[in-house]
Amino acid sequence: MSDKRLIYLDNNATTPTDPRVVDAMLPYFYQNPGNAASRNHPFGWVAEEAVDYAREQIANLIHVDSKEIIFTSGATESDNLAIKGVFEMYARKGNHIITLKTEHKAVLDACKKVEKMGGEVTYLDVDREGLVNLDELEAAITDKTILVSIMWANNETGVIQPMKEIGAICEKHGVLFMSDATQVVGKIPVNPKEVGVHLMAFTSHKMYGPKGVGALFVNRKNPRVKVTAQIDGGGHERGMRSGTLNVPGIVGFGKAAELSAKEMEEDNARLSKLRDKLETALMNNLEEVYINGSKEHRMPHVTNLSFKHVEGEGLMMTFNQNIAVSSGSACTSASLEPSYVLKALGLGDDLAHSSIRFSLGRFTKEEDVDYTIEALTKGVSHMRDLSPIWEMYKEGVDIDAIEWSAH
Ligand SMILES: *Cc1c(COP(=O)(O)O)cnc(C)c1O
Repeated sequence: MSDKRLIYLDNNATTPTDPRVVDAMLPYFYQNPGNAASRNHPFGWVAEEAVDYAREQIANLIHVDSKEIIFTSGATESDNLAIKGVFEMYARKGNHIITLKTEHKAVLDACKKVEKMGGEVTYLDVDREGLVNLDELEAAITDKTILVSIMWANNETGVIQPMKEIGAICEKHGVLFMSDATQVVGKIPVNPKEVGVHLMAFTSHKMYGPKGVGALFVNRKNPRVKVTAQIDGGGHERGMRSGTLNVPGIVGFGKAAELSAKEMEEDNARLSKLRDKLETALMNNLEEVYINGSKEHRMPHVTNLSFKHVEGEGLMMTFNQNIAVSSGSACTSASLEPSYVLKALGLGDDLAHSSIRFSLGRFTKEEDVDYTIEALTKGVSHMRDLSPIWEMYKEGVDIDAIEWSAH
């Protein structure tokens, strides 16, 4: 292939910053350099006004009060602030947290830390589709439970959890409900109050804004929720998160929120068609391709596919890595462990190793998808042609039985 163009289908890892976002940010580097906490001169006032405006844009996107938005450095920090912050703040009420095995590492590792600090954490299984079992969730709640933390949609599979039903269970038992909504805010309509979410983490760089800025929504009324600060300093962000605000970043985050609110419907209509085209073509062109996770409860721009008897990392080499996709998740692909998310869905090591996540975005073009269909079809066919296991499989040998006994 002499064609060296690069195609970006890894929008769940991060999105390109929309040029309109960059334009909105530029005046806040040099022309308006103020610190939003400088109350005694115009530079500070201009910065504070810009931050207030962005806070409104973000609050409008998720239908909350702007006072309920706490700015952070990203979703990792927001997850940590929510989980550790609730654990400390509500220590007198209890020490038990419930979460899912398929959560992002930012949630799982914060929970591990809570366990070290004397907390108890229940990690719930998911079903074959990647969905929580509501009966198991309710049964796990005890009188020591203070928090349920369940992600809105999964980063690897795009599977969307039944938020309203989870919210109702939390409400019935008087337990706080936190959600890592990083993969949904700015992508599909999200309204935490409507589904009973009290704390919600999200980030700018997954919705066409800049990296290094995120937010935690903290419900202020019925119930009034508080979290113990994890970073102490000047008492910024209503005492919950100290540190000089990243003014250009926040301005960009706000602009990204405004654009998403206006454009998500159109983006999604286009992207779901492209996603379906990609999925259908690959499944028609190739044998033994499986979709991982619920087809019905899924984000419109994501598909996670397993190509049986083809190793994902090897497959990526066949197209010279000029198509950016993800095998496993970006956060775990440094190791060659198969994805813990896919394993939690019940996939064996072989299918988990043969998985690729395609995540489309606002700047994905139809010709990118067409090119990808062609490159993947060729790549998978090529690898299977070279594979003795595939040959045996085609001859009718029960490969799974052989691989099993070889372990
Ligand atoms: C990307 C991601 C995060 C981490 O967000 P950062 O802003 O990069 O820290 C957390 N949770 C989920 C579900 C994500 O997809």
